[in-house]
Amino acid sequence: MTKQVILTGIRSNEEPTLANYLGAFVPMVEMQKKFAGKYQINMFVPDLHSFTTPIDHSTLYQNTLNNLKYFVASGLDMNNSDTFIYRQSFVPAHSELTWILDCFTYFGEMSRMTQFKEKSSDQNDSVTVGLFNYPVLMAADILLYGAKYVPVGEDQFQHLEITRDIATRFNNKFGETFVIPESTSAQTQFINRDSGLRIRSLTNPAKKMSKSSTDDKSKILLVDTPEEAKQKIMSATTDSVGAIHFDWENQPGITSLLQILALLSGKPQADVNAEWEGNDKYGTFKNAVAEVVVNFLAEFQARYKMITDEELVAKLEASEAAMNTAANKTLLDVQRAVGLRPKA
Ligand code: ATP
Ligand code: MG
Repeated sequence: MTKQVILTGIRSNEEPTLANYLGAFVPMVEMQKKFAGKYQINMFVPDLHSFTTPIDHSTLYQNTLNNLKYFVASGLDMNNSDTFIYRQSFVPAHSELTWILDCFTYFGEMSRMTQFKEKSSDQNDSVTVGLFNYPVLMAADILLYGAKYVPVGEDQFQHLEITRDIATRFNNKFGETFVIPESTSAQTQFINRDSGLRIRSLTNPAKKMSKSSTDDKSKILLVDTPEEAKQKIMSATTDSVGAIHFDWENQPGITSLLQILALLSGKPQADVNAEWEGNDKYGTFKNAVAEVVVNFLAEFQARYKMITDEELVAKLEASEAAMNTAANKTLLDVQRAVGLRPKA
């Protein structure tokens, strides 16, 4: 029996942060460790999705490769035989299936997508048809491989539901063609990875750390030098309580630093908290946090530098060949179903 498919994608837009590492890269690597062997894991960069809103196109190609290198530097095993890493635009069936699905997707249902409403409301004139249509491309991304599980955040639930609707409608009209992905509740239960890790902004700990923030001091970038990282930690916003307590309510800045310290040092949170509880030397504490962050970055960046474009591209090309075969098979079924090709 062929293995069920888990499919997950990462967009490459801005430089990733320590929060992206802890909240996304590490869980993805853990998912590979947990599920490879039993499931096939499709990890792709949706490069065609990356310019639904304006970007700098001169860096897109390299950013896509760099993004994948971040995952490898985070521990993703490129050579795992159940894991396929690929770029969407290198598998043309994604675009072709999108067009066919477009013709079985209603304008009315697409107009209800809340993410389109939110993203288009701050852009006015520059809202593209691509931004409106991207959930159909996402449906194609999933349906081409018969993916059962698609670990996404809550912001993507609606797009997963429309994928199920489009696939069900198509199957009802033309007979069983697509595997229907699991419902969002079944997905959440299966993956159980959105356990709510939320690394805070260093300058405003009421907010989360975000890679698109224009406040450079709010975020540790994975490309930061030791000096930059240390300086950001030392100037992180804390409080006037005067003693260290793990307390999200009253001391979110200190608490966030305690969390970073525990996660990066691999110690249980309770042990780290016990070590610092009641200590009034915020400077000493920040120095300790800065030290683990700087050490982490040094190791991470060393691993990152070891990965060459050549070896990454070799793995991508091998995966992309396999994905073209798999995707073209589904596409042919669809082409037969709609009458573009003779029936088998
Ligand atoms: P942007 O500001 O562009 O939205 P972002 O930093 O929020 O960037 P996303 O691209 O939206 O990053 O999300 C990438 C991944 O990083 C997601 O899996 C998301 O859950 C995770 N992530 C983002 N911010 C945090 C955070 N502060 N703590 C933990 N995980 C995070
Ligand atoms: Mg975000």
